[in-house]
Amino acid sequence: MRRGLAVVVAHPDDDTFGCAGTVALHAEDPAFSFVLVHATNGEAGEIADGSGATRETLGAVRQEEDRRSWIALGRVPDRHEWLHYPDHGLADVPPHELAARVAGILRESEPEVVITFGPDGVTGHPDHIAIGEATTAAFHRCREEGLPGFRRLIHSAIAQRTLDGWNRQLVEAGKDPMDPTQLYVPRGVPDQTIDVDVDTSDVAPRVLAALREHRTQQGGLQDWSEEQQLEAVSHERGVIAWPEQRRGRGVVRDVFDGLEGQGRPVR
Ligand SMILES: [Zn+2]
Repeated sequence: MRRGLAVVVAHPDDDTFGCAGTVALHAEDPAFSFVLVHATNGEAGEIADGSGATRETLGAVRQEEDRRSWIALGRVPDRHEWLHYPDHGLADVPPHELAARVAGILRESEPEVVITFGPDGVTGHPDHIAIGEATTAAFHRCREEGLPGFRRLIHSAIAQRTLDGWNRQLVEAGKDPMDPTQLYVPRGVPDQTIDVDVDTSDVAPRVLAALREHRTQQGGLQDWSEEQQLEAVSHERGVIAWPEQRRGRGVVRDVFDGLEGQGRPVR
């Protein structure tokens, strides 16, 4: 079966956090293809000390960091599109325009699986929520057009138990726990709503190498030991937004699990 994956996110590094481990696990799979879409260049983001970037150069620097991150991971996207919308401005883009841009790319790539943000935006970031809504709309539009592919839509998510574990570690280290009611702070979804739980521990060092290429964005990692960082990238989880899931039917361990036998043959 053809295993096409499209990942649609707001900022450079959203992709690394959301799906790098899944991509690494399929790196040697000849049936796997990978399309990546970034809605912004991330020019309004953090500039870590010593990264050398300035507010003027940050967008270009982060695009380059993102390209390097996939090289460090060992599997670069087959197609990588940048929509160049303003960072921190996605919520101001007309939703139908954003959805049309994403749908245009998805139509050309006909992925089996699409990953984007859900309504919580993982951190509540309005850019994440906006691109998640637009991509969800684009997925359904393509599916309703009867195009091949479009078998599963996944919203990236953090399980509540994972967030609780991180907060325990922070408190034990004498730091403040993260408050998920605050903007830009990770938030969890109820454990029982997680449908996808990919164990990426075998490729965690590669994911960490990819994350470290985002040199302008290293502020948040400093509170974590190497072991804790590896642990944090040892699972990628999500909620299956389509097709509708029956609760209690268990989780899939790979984004393509359960789609075998019904997909298109590899061309
Ligand atoms: Zn982001």
